[in-house]
Amino acid sequence: MIHRTKQQIVMTKDIILRGTIFTLLLSLFLFSGCSSNDDEITPLTYVTIVENNPQTDGFDFPIYSGEMTGWKIPPNPSVTYDEGSFLVHRDDGIHPAIDFFREDGSSAEGYELWSIGDGVVVDIVYDREAYPSKWDGSDRDEGWGNLILIQHDYLENGVNNRIFALYAHTKTIEVELNDVVQRNQLIGLVGKTDGVSGTVTWPDHLHFEIRITNITADSWPKSSGLTTDAEVLEHWTHPLDFVSEHRP
Ligand SMILES: [Zn+2]
Repeated sequence: MIHRTKQQIVMTKDIILRGTIFTLLLSLFLFSGCSSNDDEITPLTYVTIVENNPQTDGFDFPIYSGEMTGWKIPPNPSVTYDEGSFLVHRDDGIHPAIDFFREDGSSAEGYELWSIGDGVVVDIVYDREAYPSKWDGSDRDEGWGNLILIQHDYLENGVNNRIFALYAHTKTIEVELNDVVQRNQLIGLVGKTDGVSGTVTWPDHLHFEIRITNITADSWPKSSGLTTDAEVLEHWTHPLDFVSEHRP
């Protein structure tokens, strides 16, 4: 015969209660884990446009020395598949950038990144590992690492036009938010901060975008529900074509 004292019964109830609370917390944890997966769509968010930003007199390419000699230019994705091409369709959605690697296969680490024109720094994301003291605690660096977004204004056919240049995975960030920068000014170094997609870890390269709208630095087409070329082209343009057509 089992004889339980009052104290034993209270302890048993306590254990059952603790088990129930643990199960509830575990369910909440698992549920929240599922709701923040990669397929979740969040609307685009925007940075504040800087008015009266001095116009740049033209654009150079983003890596020292302002030309792309020695850098591999990815092919047109309609001709040859290349993960680094503009508008290539990948597992993580449409790639709205060009990825620059060295043509001879050597490491791109540490090459100087230059501002493509006069402009103003409108968004910066600090990578949690590269800049732990400056990281804002958000997940904006996930998949991106360090990010620098610069607004450029320029005159075309008598009217002010505006684009936004994005430099991703940089090793360092040599500018501050709201800094006014000049064409060919050093803004960071080529790196591979958080250059991971799925199981692939990318070597050092520059992921370079030109946006025509003021979306935040960490904007990504698939995450925002943009799944067609036409939808992406509402916010992005071909970065090399743009620079080629707007030399000083
Ligand atoms: Zn890329």
